[in-house]
This record gives sequence, structure tokens and C-alpha cells, in this order.
Amino acid sequence: NDASRSRLRIAIQKSGRLTDDTEKLFKNCGIKINESRDHLLAHVENLPIDILRVRDDDIPGLVMDHVVDWGIVGQNVLEETMMQRKVDGMPTGFREVMKLNYGDCRLSVAIPQEKEWHGLADLEGCKIATTYPFLLKRKLSEQGINFKPVLLTGSVEVAPRAGLADAICDLVCTGATLQANGLREVDTIYESKAVLIGRDQDLFPEKQAIADLIIPRLKGVMAARE
Ligand code: ATP
Ligand code: ZN
Repeated sequence: NDASRSRLRIAIQKSGRLTDDTEKLFKNCGIKINESRDHLLAHVENLPIDILRVRDDDIPGLVMDHVVDWGIVGQNVLEETMMQRKVDGMPTGFREVMKLNYGDCRLSVAIPQEKEWHGLADLEGCKIATTYPFLLKRKLSEQGINFKPVLLTGSVEVAPRAGLADAICDLVCTGATLQANGLREVDTIYESKAVLIGRDQDLFPEKQAIADLIIPRLKGVMAARE
């Protein structure tokens, strides 16, 4: 239809750690989102842009399946999803439009405070709770370490105390959550920030024109805040 040819469709996280910074960035670029957060699709009034509000985990797939033109997501979720989709035989193509200056965090291994630590080899044969089994496996296989992944999409940090795992591999920003759960961070396996990605296909000219207008604005706003 017409809108799908002429309005740039951007997927952003509906509500979470990337949402406020994304909306602030858009606002500073003159992209005014009027609808409230419970609208899945928000029309930007002053520009031919539609905003799709979804779970962050769905964003790489929406871009790779060409359902949206652009998406904003953490590199951690992007890489994990790509590896999962390769296994599932699904398309994994995308273009990185630009790295963003927020959403910084790291994917780290943490173990119970009282446990000894000599290095990643200590994880041989361990049960490790994580939301990111592919990123963890990539890192540990590089070093020839075998482990048993325990897949949890939330409350990863309680797994050792609950007797579900020997260690965890989870996103860390300050480390306060780990401490509160009697864990200590022993190694970082991946550093992440938010990225703007686009579909791996040329856009319709109308949409490309919007992209060409927005990209310098995004870069300008981020440079001004460095
Ligand atoms: P959703 O409901 O959309 O699935 P979620 O709970 O999976 O949300 P959030 O916790 O909101 O996800 O985190 C979204 C992304 O924000 C993470 O994947 C990561 O890239 C980034 N991030 C930035 N800072 C942090 C932090 N301190 N802890 C965790 N993630 C962070
Ligand atoms: Zn998520």
C-alpha cells in the first residue's frame, strides 16, 4: 500500500532500558511522537515516519524479515538473535546505520561471592544460567570450554541461590544487582551499546529521502551531547 512505500517505519522498544533515550533522541531530532506508549503504531505528525513499539527481542527479526525499515536495539540482542536465526535457517541480513550513544552495558559471567575463581576454565562442565546462550557459547567454545546452558529470560541472577545453576552470564551495568544477589562479576564476555539498524535492501526513493534527512540530524544531536 501507499504508506508502506512512503513512510519510514522504525521499530523501537515499547518500554524498557532503551525507551527513554530513544524517545529523547527522536524528540531532539524533531521527530514528534504524539501517541502514548500503549499504541503499537504511532504516526509521527510532522514527518512521514511511523514508529512501531515492540519488545526489544523482536526488533532484529522485524528488520531481517523486512517488516520495518529501521530498528533500534542493543548489540547483545542483535548478535544473539542473528545466531539463533542462523540455526533456524531464517534470514539474518541487515545494515548497521549507526551506533548510538546510549544503552551501554556488558554481558558478564558472575559466580557466588564465596566461590574461588581462576579463570573461565573454572566453568568447565558447569550449569550457567543465561538469556544469551549463543553469545556465551561462542566465547566459551573459543577456549574449548564445555558448559550446560540453563535458559532463563528473567531473574537470571537468582538462579545460583535457587540451586538452578553454578554461575550466571547476564547483562551488567553497575553491578548492584549482582551484589544484592551475593554474586561477583568475574569476566566480561561481550560489550554492548544500542545501534540503529536497517533492512539489507535499498529503500524506496521516498523513504530514502526521509532517511537522508534524519541521519545527519541523529548524528548532530549525538555529537552535541558527547
Ligand atoms: P523487553 O520487554 O522489551 O523484552 P527487556 O527486559 O528484555 O525488555 P531491558 O532490560 O529493557 O530489556 O533492556 C533492553 C536493552 O537495554 C538490553 O538488551 C541492553 O542492550 C540495554 N541495557 C542498557 N543498560 C542496561 C542495564 N543496566 N541492564 C540491562 N540491559 C541494559
Ligand atoms: Zn527483551
